[in-house]
Amino acid sequence: MAPPPPPPPPPPTEFYNGFRSNVTTAAPSPTASTFNLNLGISLNVEPVDNLPESRVLIIMTGGTICMQRSENGYVPATGFLDNALRPRPSFNDGSPPKPVPVVMEDGKVEMMDTLRTPPSKYSRRVRFVGLEFNPLLDSSSINAKGWVKIAKTIERNYQLFDSFVILHGTDSLAYTSSALSFMINNLGKPVILTGSQAPMSELHNDATDNLLGSLIIAGHYMIPEVCLFFNHKLFRGNRATKTNAHDFAAFSSPNHPALAKVGISTTVNWGFVRRPSRISPFSVQTDFETSHVACLRVFPGILPQMVRGVLQLPGLRGLILETFGAGNAPEDAELTDALRDGIERGIVVVNVTQCQVGTVSPLYASATALARAGVVFGLDMTTEAALTKLSCLLANPTLSAPEIRKLMSRSMRGELTEQSEIHFSHPNAELPPALSSLSALGYAIQDQNLDDIRIIIKESNQFLLNQFDYSGNTPLHIAAISPGLGILREFLSQGASVHLRNRDGRTPLFLAADAGKLENVRLLKESGAHLHAEESEMATMLKKRAAAAGEEVKRTCWDLAGA
Ligand code: ASP
Repeated sequence: MAPPPPPPPPPPTEFYNGFRSNVTTAAPSPTASTFNLNLGISLNVEPVDNLPESRVLIIMTGGTICMQRSENGYVPATGFLDNALRPRPSFNDGSPPKPVPVVMEDGKVEMMDTLRTPPSKYSRRVRFVGLEFNPLLDSSSINAKGWVKIAKTIERNYQLFDSFVILHGTDSLAYTSSALSFMINNLGKPVILTGSQAPMSELHNDATDNLLGSLIIAGHYMIPEVCLFFNHKLFRGNRATKTNAHDFAAFSSPNHPALAKVGISTTVNWGFVRRPSRISPFSVQTDFETSHVACLRVFPGILPQMVRGVLQLPGLRGLILETFGAGNAPEDAELTDALRDGIERGIVVVNVTQCQVGTVSPLYASATALARAGVVFGLDMTTEAALTKLSCLLANPTLSAPEIRKLMSRSMRGELTEQSEIHFSHPNAELPPALSSLSALGYAIQDQNLDDIRIIIKESNQFLLNQFDYSGNTPLHIAAISPGLGILREFLSQGASVHLRNRDGRTPLFLAADAGKLENVRLLKESGAHLHAEESEMATMLKKRAAAAGEEVKRTCWDLAGA
């Protein structure tokens, strides 16, 4: 006799709980098996197909992952979805290609065919669609224009997808992931960049694992950061750097732990995942370029005239100085003077280390001399993060050079470790049952007891706000329909996700509008909430119903919510 099937694995924390597919099991399909149990009853056993789905937009920019051999070596090839993914069962469960809307560059909406993965270990499918850039590029040719194009594609489609996967060459991948992390404000959904060292067209490749791993994470976990996924690891995008040109393990994150690891199961390091902490909607900074910045690597014997020459480049506004060890450069008065002159003319000079691991600091007199000349400590930032962050800040016309200097030593997107930053983690401690904390939180919300709420959240060693209680709601769902704005505001400013859907597939915004909570709807919208594509039909119907019934407040709620 066959052994009993193993129990289903527990869902991961911060799992997308509620996205449900529209597919229902209506009439039996011709493929349904018919069992005659010899009892005079005939049972049609239809494969149950109401598993939840996540919707992911894949943005293809080029890179080895989609390349094919040519006379001149590997070149990017179009038609990746059709040629590489459609024939592979792990990316295509053979279901109909249910078209979904995608907003194109000209603003027009096109219905595009999708592919769908088979169910994951957590009984969820990922439905995805691919948008190919024209031309596809080797990433060594991608620059700020390409970063803006990616960011704008995400912006146009932000409300239509649960998450975004960007396929990109590995050469400049860490620059792009860093740049996007600074260009995107108040990100509430996962954005995952990946690529590969060997193309999917080769028999032995890392492309399949990298893309599948990215889709699984994007489709299952609420990690609202710009990330880079490679060789089974998810890194914060602005902490990663390419450290190997040959191995599948091409990237590392030398100064920050990986955010997740994918193996037989996926382990997310939730303690390090950043979440929005301001009540502001998602937005993108698109006036961004690198033509005002330069990067200079200090070496033994570097001539002060070289440094002066770079600092006198017309239009230069920022310089990343890659120094020795803990931030040191040759103790040469002429060199320090060259830097001081540039800084006095308003150029922002940032000190980062040539070493992969560690931070720059005033440990040695040499580094202190640079700091006295006005060079900013970039702490443990990678060059990629420092250069793109500086470009992003310089593009903001409201910031002065002294303000930019200050910000270069402060963490904006988790790109550096501020010296006073302390991380508490409880790797071995027994976790209190999350559900009991969630129920306590539920009661405290009901009692409108903000003090208790703060204590419960603080004392839990898990991030409770993105977890689902026994009824399938997050604390934000409950707060969205509760009176008073204090609790809702507290949750939003502590990073609760506005995009998680409850067991019925509803967002907190939908619930607030349905409950006629006008102020709650307004606050949720301010925090970047929007109705999910699968809610819009129902929302429109409810809006019409409210209008017909003369329920003015409710109708306004639906209007505001975007129905
Ligand atoms: N030259 C390729 C690129 O960056 C390398 C790769 O994708 O791995 O596009």
